Amino acid sequence: MSVTVFSQLDKSLHEHLATVSQLAAHGDDHSAAELARAELPRLVATVKALLDEHQPDEHGRCPTCRTRWWSRRLPAPCRAYLSAQLCLTVAGEQSSGGGTHRHLRRVG
Ligand SMILES: [Zn+2]
Repeated sequence: MSVTVFSQLDKSLHEHLATVSQLAAHGDDHSAAELARAELPRLVATVKALLDEHQPDEHGRCPTCRTRWWSRRLPAPCRAYLSAQLCLTVAGEQSSGGGTHRHLRRVG
């Protein structure tokens, strides 16, 4: 039961994200601008909320992801944190949308 509910949530989340990327990529300028206004603040808030939860402590350890038994030795960088960093800073490389390999590296 709860699995079904969760997978439904997960599905609609992914559908929403797919719609956002598709509109951003293929929508006209007007739709893209509206989309950005509507969705960007929410996406930023989402990323921030996730990063807050995975904020490394002063030893570089994630309080959310650390596992009890090996956390004291390995200052394991949090994978959630790392992938957020990578996705945001390595922009445009290998975007997962539809097989067009455009090497856009507009980061600034
Ligand atoms: Zn984490």
